[in-house]
Amino acid sequence: MTPFLKRLEDFIFPPLCIICDNYRTDNNNWFCPECLNYLLTNSKNRKSCPRCSQNSLFKDCTCEFAWDFPYESIRSFLDYDEKVQTIMYHIKYFNKRDLAFYIGSLFSLFIEESFWRSADYIIPVPLHWLRKFKRGYNQAEWFARGIICRRNKPALITSGLYRKRRTRTQVKLDKAKRRINVQGAFGITDNLKQMIKGKDVILVDDVITTGATTASCAETLLEGGCKKIRVLSLARD
Ligand SMILES: [Zn+2]
Ligand SMILES: [Zn+2]
Repeated sequence: MTPFLKRLEDFIFPPLCIICDNYRTDNNNWFCPECLNYLLTNSKNRKSCPRCSQNSLFKDCTCEFAWDFPYESIRSFLDYDEKVQTIMYHIKYFNKRDLAFYIGSLFSLFIEESFWRSADYIIPVPLHWLRKFKRGYNQAEWFARGIICRRNKPALITSGLYRKRRTRTQVKLDKAKRRINVQGAFGITDNLKQMIKGKDVILVDDVITTGATTASCAETLLEGGCKKIRVLSLARD
């Protein structure tokens, strides 16, 4: 594009930060420098439990006596605050799978090499096919794609684990009801069972609240024969 056309485009569609609506610079497609700095600083400074990823500044971690997840640990990059809610809203409802990819690639830089050493596969939590059809993509998959974009291992698996039924939105449900809501909601193909037998899997979701959805997914994967599961999420509520 010629400089003139670029200036014209910026005039008609000014490059605004998706979080705060201030002008962003050309070198970031999504955020202004302040918001980008906010996200990176918050992620670095999270005082999070190494097992449940709960931020001790906001919520006491109870996992020492109440850990009842079928996976080993949760690792989240950010707290689910207003800024992250805005990002999630754009990713889910404004057709921005590239933003999910970008966020994954950005925060993957914070993951130390030892985290990946034993990991064989990375698997995003699947959407029900009808929801995926309506949205056009699974945001957790694009987040996972971003996370591994500079690596050739672990391999990404996007089929074989599926949602058997549509589940109610979990927003108004407490932890016990969420568990019931998603119990048995996932299925696994024989092909995937063979692939994951005895393997170490990283399960990826966008936001972890009570962990009910990832727990149900993990149960299905463990019944399918995989050895160990760790959860990676963009945000922790
Ligand atoms: Zn901003
Ligand atoms: Zn904890």
